[in-house]
Amino acid sequence: MASEKSSRFVILYASQTGNAEWIAKNIHQEASERGFVNECYVMEEIDKFDLSKENVLILVTSNTGDGDPPDNATKFFRFLRKIKSNTFLSHLKFTILGLGDTNYTNFNNTAKRLEKRMIDLGAAPFYNKGLADDAMGLETTVDPWIANLWPELVKVCVQKGKDNNNTQVENIIESVKTLSINGKTESNETSLPLETPNGQSVDKKMGIASGTKIMLDLSELAKVEQFTALPRIPTVICKIIKSNEERIINSPTLPTLINTPTPIVNTRLDAVRCLTHPEALKRTIHLELEIKDYREKLEFIPGDSFGIIAPNNEKLCLGILKTLEIDENEANQEISVESAEGTELPSHLRNAKSTSIIELLRYGVDLNSLPRKALLRLLAEYTTNEEEKKTLLFLCSKQGSVQFNLLREQVPTLLDLLITFPSSKPPLERLLDVLPPHQPRYYSIVNSPLVNRDLLHFAFNIVDYKTPVPYNVRKYGVCTPWLDNLSGYAKEINKRVPLTTDINIPIFMKPNSNEFAVPSDISRPIIMIGPGTGVAPFVGFIQHREQQIIAERKLNNIEKTFGEMWLFYGCRDIEKDYLYREELERFSENGFLKELLVVISRAPNAGLNGNPKYVQDLLRKRGQEIYELLDQKNAMIFVCGDAQGMAKGVNDALADILVEHGKIQKSDALKILTQWISDKRYLRDLVR
Ligand code: NAP
Repeated sequence: MASEKSSRFVILYASQTGNAEWIAKNIHQEASERGFVNECYVMEEIDKFDLSKENVLILVTSNTGDGDPPDNATKFFRFLRKIKSNTFLSHLKFTILGLGDTNYTNFNNTAKRLEKRMIDLGAAPFYNKGLADDAMGLETTVDPWIANLWPELVKVCVQKGKDNNNTQVENIIESVKTLSINGKTESNETSLPLETPNGQSVDKKMGIASGTKIMLDLSELAKVEQFTALPRIPTVICKIIKSNEERIINSPTLPTLINTPTPIVNTRLDAVRCLTHPEALKRTIHLELEIKDYREKLEFIPGDSFGIIAPNNEKLCLGILKTLEIDENEANQEISVESAEGTELPSHLRNAKSTSIIELLRYGVDLNSLPRKALLRLLAEYTTNEEEKKTLLFLCSKQGSVQFNLLREQVPTLLDLLITFPSSKPPLERLLDVLPPHQPRYYSIVNSPLVNRDLLHFAFNIVDYKTPVPYNVRKYGVCTPWLDNLSGYAKEINKRVPLTTDINIPIFMKPNSNEFAVPSDISRPIIMIGPGTGVAPFVGFIQHREQQIIAERKLNNIEKTFGEMWLFYGCRDIEKDYLYREELERFSENGFLKELLVVISRAPNAGLNGNPKYVQDLLRKRGQEIYELLDQKNAMIFVCGDAQGMAKGVNDALADILVEHGKIQKSDALKILTQWISDKRYLRDLVR
């Protein structure tokens, strides 16, 4: 009944990389246009809303790490946890949209936990939760979830008369035949490549990237009568305001655009060491940053990680400026980004004051991530060529979903999109409305402060790969090629090269929320599993315990019981990519590392006749001892590395060990492992 409906609702979001924020704000905007009174807050702003007074709530949350809540959800979770009454929210109806990734074991764990807690406190769902999967493309779930939200929302919330001037809401279907550009029809000549040369081309003379045209098969487009399920035209949010006086802005010494959880400091690049042979499949670099001027700001223990703020590739930024016809002078002028009336700037652009366009491209927005449909829709609005407009609308419609996925397989940059649709010249402020935030890159600390407090060691693979056949386009990461370049492309395996020139790397510490750290109880055994660069934090773990043992021996002069340390490590070729071999063998020889178990995945007999290939095979082989460590000595398990195959393989192996040696059912073994994860006895630091 209408009288029972709420007059308003609230949207709360928790976002790690900006996606949940963007989606929540879009729901907020569309709901307002549809005549719903609503407000939108980030979950941590708990003093801005009062759940005891709200009747309808929409929660949008992403996940971080292994299904953990984003940092800006922590306060809200704590608030919900403290409530004792199970009827506290019995007046409230709610729904949840979770953004997760099936490559992680705890898929959309945050949304699931949140739903359970809300129900435990008496709230009732009014619409089934949506669990979007980044592995499949978030839009596959998010778009239909939002489309079906409105008829459900109207059952619990009052919808006032629609704004008749707004055609956006209805504008989700477009007839192909009536498509036109500003009322006039352009020539039908298409500039879209069906076949393009491979490889990212660079304008050699200018040192400016010129992008790679995207391959599109448009044969289906000719058959389409109308496009359905089009995303809305993105809302106008950002305004670029030029400073009154023409003033050239120099790049600040520290990047100021990115919001970070702890202060940014400029560290000095002190030394580099290449950890792999030139013929190794992946190139891995170890770097050392001098932090002695920041001892207080940069406290760390092994297991912690830190963020590096690397700029977007300069040639790419210049290529985008050139394509958008923004000259160098304009790009360096002082500007500020403000919000359009009635809107709020996305949080990643709130610091964009007294900055410049080139700084926004370097540090403000992500130019490389997979394009959202909203970006294609925006480009369609600014095309002056009808064929291009039709293609862009096709790509973001239901009819073009196969081609949209093929476009994403090519991992196009913003520049690739702009040169594939050359008639589209959106103003930069419109692009700011839809581009995701530029992200810092996180690395595990390799060293213990007990050995050296003045240096931070870390290691990484250089991200450099080709998109699949037939595209075959070379792609680079943002941060790792930048670091490789700054450190001089070190070649000789395991030779430490001190760097004498002043090279600054802006970093900040990441708060360690998942307790991935050496246990303070030094008698507790630890089982560490980390193939590839996943071994990085464990070098620090072992160093740390080694120092603790040495200190304890000096202090007490008695032999105390120290927990055994076991390390399971995997690489492809013992001569080419056995990372930190010297250090690990030394730990093993002097007895601090009880077991160093290395498996070589590309050895001729790997995986044949019962020979192990991966770390999980070695775990099974040593199953009896692993079981005893877990069952009798309360050992902890740490897993670091790839979330996709390895983490699952290791989890299965651990479950099999519990089944075989503990004589229990597989389902019970899996329950025990889940319990150990929540008890922080089984800790994982995983990256996709
Ligand atoms: P990698 O070089 O790709 O692989 C290391 C070894 O793991 C190879 O022998 C590989 O064998 C094997 N492997 C492949 N599939 C496996 C599976 N399903 N189960 C078990 N082993 C498997 O490793 P990487 O690229 O360094 O990966 C480490 C991951 O850790 C990355 O995602 C990285 O981002 C992440 N990480 C890095 C840091 C850091 O500080 N740098 C910290 C935390 C996490 P084959 O190739 O022969 O199959």
